[in-house]
This record gives sequence, structure tokens and C-alpha cells, in this order.
Amino acid sequence: MKKAIYPGSFDPMTLGHLDIIERSSRIVDELNVAVLKNNAKNPLFSADERVSMIKEFTSHLPNVTVTAYDGLLADYADQIGANIIVRGLRAVTDFEYELQIAQTNHAVNPKIDTIFLTTSLQYAYLSSTITKEVASYGGDISKFVPKELVDRVYSKFNIKR
Ligand code: ADP
Repeated sequence: MKKAIYPGSFDPMTLGHLDIIERSSRIVDELNVAVLKNNAKNPLFSADERVSMIKEFTSHLPNVTVTAYDGLLADYADQIGANIIVRGLRAVTDFEYELQIAQTNHAVNPKIDTIFLTTSLQYAYLSSTITKEVASYGGDISKFVPKELVDRVYSKFNIKR
């Protein structure tokens, strides 16, 4: 049984994330989306909010579970019995960082391998950071996040549209 973990901040979850979740869930038997609590990054959405938004938008995928974690990813993967890490690659700028992280995780836990899915072209520019930046100025984010999430992102910036 192939169990994979897709870790990230997901603050907030974007259509780019959802695309990676849908595509990787077809490759493995079980996919755990792991939300990094990471309070140091001062997230816009709490870990609980991020877990429940991802559950909401992946409810059509029966082999996808969503949890929050803290600490070393390699340890958490081990704890839940996953030996594949899924990451998305958008541009060459992602590559250097992702390569280093993948090699580190493999060094920390040799049972773990990382697989990369390249972004679908229409989401190549998209990130949680870009979404927050545009939303903070009241810009249109309807192409960035699931439509049910749009107003929830604006409300974090006290913006009504
Ligand atoms: P992190 O804080 O760990 O970078 P993110 O939530 O920003 O977490 O991203 C989680 C994963 O999703 C990363 O592998 C990232 O490269 C990938 N990802 C983010 N946005 C996209 C996108 N638009 N297309 C493909 N992969 C993406």
C-alpha cells in the first residue's frame, strides 16, 4: 500500500494546491495532506481553519486525509506510516530549495523518498503569498482559491466585496 504525505503551510489553500492533491491522490493509495502549524510564520488562518478548509475542498477524494503537524516532517511521516513525500514544482526557483529539503528528509530518514509533480500551467504563478498580497488590496482572487473560500480570505483583511 502506497501512502504519501503532502506537507505545506496551505495558508490559504489555493487551486494550485488542490490540483496537486487531486493528481497525486490518483498515483498513491492514500494521501495525507499535512498542515504545518508553524506559528513562527504568523499564519493568516489558524492550523484548525486550514485543516478544515482542506477537508472541505477534498471531500470528493475518498483516499485523502488531512491533519496538522509540528516538528520534523520525516518523523511525522514515519509516525503515520507514509514513506513518500509529495511536493509541487512551479519554476526553477522552487527547484534549489526543494532539492535540498528532499535530500535532507532522505538523509534524516532513508526510507522516505520525495516525488515532485510539476504545476499545471494555469497555476504556475500561483502561491499562498500572492493570494494574500492581492487580497490585502481587495484585488480579485477568484482565480486563485476555491470560490467558497474567496470571502473568507477577504474577511481576514476586513475587506467586504
Ligand atoms: P510551504 O510553506 O512548505 O512552501 P506551501 O503551502 O507554500 O508550503 O506549498 C506546499 C507545496 O505545494 C509545495 O511543494 C509547493 O511547491 C506546492 N505548490 C504551491 N503552489 C503550487 C502551485 N501553484 N502549483 C504547484 N505546486 C504548488
